[in-house]
Amino acid sequence: EYRKGGYHPVHIGDQYHGRYYVIRKLGFGSYSTVWLCWDQKDKHFVALKILKSASIYTNIAYEEIKILRIINGADPRDPNRYRTVRLLNDFKITGVNGQHIGLVFEVTGCNLSKLLLQSNGRGLPLANVRTIVKQVLEGLEYLHSKCKIVHGDLKPENLLICVKEDYNTKLASEVAKIYRFGIKLPASMVANAPLRRMSSLKIKRANKRRISSFKWQLKLIMDTIEDNKKAAPSVMNTSNSPSPSTSWSSDEKPELNPAFVNSEMEVKIADLGLACRIGGPLYETIQTRPYRSLEVLLGAEYDTSADIWSTACLTFELATGHDLFALECGETYPDENHLAQIIELLGDIPKKIVQSGTKSHLLFNKQNKLCHIEQLHPSSLEDKLRKKYDWSVRDAQEFAAFLLPMLQFDVNKRATASECLKHQWLKLNKSL
Ligand code: ATP
Ligand code: MG
Ligand code: MG
Repeated sequence: EYRKGGYHPVHIGDQYHGRYYVIRKLGFGSYSTVWLCWDQKDKHFVALKILKSASIYTNIAYEEIKILRIINGADPRDPNRYRTVRLLNDFKITGVNGQHIGLVFEVTGCNLSKLLLQSNGRGLPLANVRTIVKQVLEGLEYLHSKCKIVHGDLKPENLLICVKEDYNTKLASEVAKIYRFGIKLPASMVANAPLRRMSSLKIKRANKRRISSFKWQLKLIMDTIEDNKKAAPSVMNTSNSPSPSTSWSSDEKPELNPAFVNSEMEVKIADLGLACRIGGPLYETIQTRPYRSLEVLLGAEYDTSADIWSTACLTFELATGHDLFALECGETYPDENHLAQIIELLGDIPKKIVQSGTKSHLLFNKQNKLCHIEQLHPSSLEDKLRKKYDWSVRDAQEFAAFLLPMLQFDVNKRATASECLKHQWLKLNKSL
């Protein structure tokens, strides 16, 4: 992907826009790579997202900027505005693979899929799922009612956890020191006046020393960050739970660490790359496959309620460790297979809804049955939770009561973010 039109090659120690120094990679997606940087001007850490350079990505980046600005300005007094990562700056980067847009964000911790990986396929404790989902819904309430924005790509990779550790105060001075002493990578060092007088061999040696010192100091910073992370409250009770790489010893989910449940762990919504505004032009297809809503699959009109469908899928995944609709790559009829799983879980889709989509005639026959898939194995959500995941009757009933209104076929009847936030299931943590 590092070719013309693709990712920009970034190196540790690179400087962008005259102020952002690259410390390490934070993540990547299909559109971009994201880097932890030290902002020398404002003296804090930031996340720099560098989009691929082909014009389609540049256009998406401009849309993302537009949307993020609307979010920032829609209602400055609403605290739910901060449930979406804040854009701090944007600029252009010209590189070997073309021209890229760089977006500068406040920096957070890892994304939710990393947390899910740590659960070893078992999902997170329900109390943590509630804490996370409540915040996602708060973010959506703001996006949907105050901004009229559909996020369009809700999934664990696009939800970021803010670790309580404070990179900034603890590490600012160390990073500042590194850059104050002018430790730079070779290209800029050759222009350094005292060095210019040295022979090329001496320059090489000096460079080597300074680079190794840079790397050493960088390692020190990274180790400190890791130590801080270890010290921060973790999801599981570390005293009696196995390390993430081993499997759970009992059938029970690990015990909750009360500090974690009660902690001010924050979740932020990121990646507005597929977001669009109600009333404006909409993308034809939005949402990553397993989180794609019924109306988008059918090619029918969608609105903010499409995000609620995705939220139901991701809530199920956080709670069980598995996709609600498990879809393999390379299926012959991916949309039909997806619809088959929806019907198995939620029942037949009324003809009126099927016919509302532009793609429906390719997927359903005149009898309102799927064209290529005949054998269906219906199983209610409650049954699935009890049989496949061994949940108690009560847990399964309460959870299904929360999720099913979010999976209503009719977009007008689907629960809104505000309605979901009032649901009893989110309040169950109080009894802990
Ligand atoms: P997609 O393939 O989902 O469209 P993308 O290319 O649009 O992804 P993002 O989802 O914005 O890119 O970012 C990719 C990854 O980088 C995220 O999953 C996350 O792990 C990390 N990341 C993004 N923004 C931040 C941030 N502000 N702070 C910390 N990490 C971040
Ligand atoms: Mg993403
Ligand atoms: Mg994206």
